[in-house]
Amino acid sequence: MTSSFSNLSLAEPLARAVAEMGYETMTPIQEQAIPVVLAGQDVMGAAQTGTGKTAAFSLPLLQRMLKHENSSTSPARHPVRALVLLPTRELADQVAQQVKLYAKHTNLRSAVVFGGIDMKPQTLELKKGVEVLVATPGRLLDHIEAKNAVLNQVEYVVLDEADRMLDIGFLPDLQRILSFLPKQRTTLLFSATFSPEIKRLAGSYLQNPVTIEVARPNETASTVEQHFYSVSDDDKRRALKQILRQRGIKQAFVFVNSKLGCARLARSLEREGLNTTALHGDKSQDERLKALAAFKAGEVDLLVATDVAARGLDIKDVPAVFNFDIPFNAEDYVHRIGRTGRAGASGLAVSFASGGNDVRLVADIEKLIKKKIELEPVEFDEDRPRGRINDGRRHWRDEGEAGDARDVLDTLERPRERTDARPLRGSGRPHRAPSAPRDPFFEQPYETPEREAAPAWEAAAKTTPSRGISSNIKSKRKVPALFKTAAQPN
Ligand code: AMP
Repeated sequence: MTSSFSNLSLAEPLARAVAEMGYETMTPIQEQAIPVVLAGQDVMGAAQTGTGKTAAFSLPLLQRMLKHENSSTSPARHPVRALVLLPTRELADQVAQQVKLYAKHTNLRSAVVFGGIDMKPQTLELKKGVEVLVATPGRLLDHIEAKNAVLNQVEYVVLDEADRMLDIGFLPDLQRILSFLPKQRTTLLFSATFSPEIKRLAGSYLQNPVTIEVARPNETASTVEQHFYSVSDDDKRRALKQILRQRGIKQAFVFVNSKLGCARLARSLEREGLNTTALHGDKSQDERLKALAAFKAGEVDLLVATDVAARGLDIKDVPAVFNFDIPFNAEDYVHRIGRTGRAGASGLAVSFASGGNDVRLVADIEKLIKKKIELEPVEFDEDRPRGRINDGRRHWRDEGEAGDARDVLDTLERPRERTDARPLRGSGRPHRAPSAPRDPFFEQPYETPEREAAPAWEAAAKTTPSRGISSNIKSKRKVPALFKTAAQPN
């Protein structure tokens, strides 16, 4: 973050909204993108959630639309002029909320439409007329077909999280939607990656875009304190608990390499008195929503997760991330620890290497992040028996646990994540496991719970009330709409 918003000469209503948000300086994506969008050029932006990219496109679009601002009650005076497309309802809702805040002192109207909930209230809002429409593609097409949304006066289109939209299979929907729009328009595309598919999409729909790249994917934030400990598998849980205790960490993510390991570790930690939930792709939608909401509300202290969960989780500042297993892909290390130390907050990333193959995986990480990694020994506080946990309540067997029948069933029924903890081996090529597929579920923003209560490893009592998710996202019954297949994604 370098320069101030005052350098932008934003119109007073927008400058006031920015000031009310408490923003002082622009984030790098804002610094680079806002002048380009104000100048009316197309943008191809490589930026992830959490970089401030919503303001980077919303503020200049609102500024440019101010010339159309009016207080008429006639819907005809409020045609859709800016369309923002996102892959999931959580992201759409999150972006729409931000747009509303930035536009709050203007007469520009905004609305959000996404699937899984009744179309009627959305229809009523659309019929009244809105200048900025935030939408997921499937539901937008429903509204287009029902003639609730007319897009022939759209001047600006934002394809946000474009790579995820393609991952989910939205390309045909996107192509259809774009076919309804005037050719003469400004198009902004934001994506975490510039895969060949994204480049093709950009080639078809963007005109001489300015490429803007902010957070290079392989960089780790300088605000994250990174430690690598050499510790045997048997001592990892003990080391984890000790670090939590010593550092007074209230909440953390604990990453493991397999869903089986995820379920086992969560169960073990829970039995040891830590308030823990497992989060992996095999959990039912309801379980996953509950787990994430409980973590956000501060009702859960440790979230044990696989890499499926790591991707796309919009988390601002979880205090610490533990790599209980060193990830098979060095890139996943960067994704995992990107959950902490966000937006300038300080974070802690602790990784446990247990020798053998881990040494090579750590070397891969070292190469990727271009930082020297020292493997540190763990010095245990007291002479608790190694490989056993003594929490004052009961003793556990050594951690060569055989697992139980439920673990085995989980493994057989659910093919999406790897079920063993061994790295895949290729022939002579670097040993890399394929990255876990992205999961549209994990799009919900995380905010640090405001609580003072001690975590479970310090005190049993928890008093924090649940804050829940946005008021736009209500009933549980509506959740499955998020998870529809590519054929009917929204
Ligand atoms: P985004 O990447 O757009 O989802 O933004 C991530 C978070 O950063 C949001 O909570 C924004 O409110 C916040 N944010 C955006 N721009 C700034 C800024 N210039 N200064 C401080 N916070 C910001």
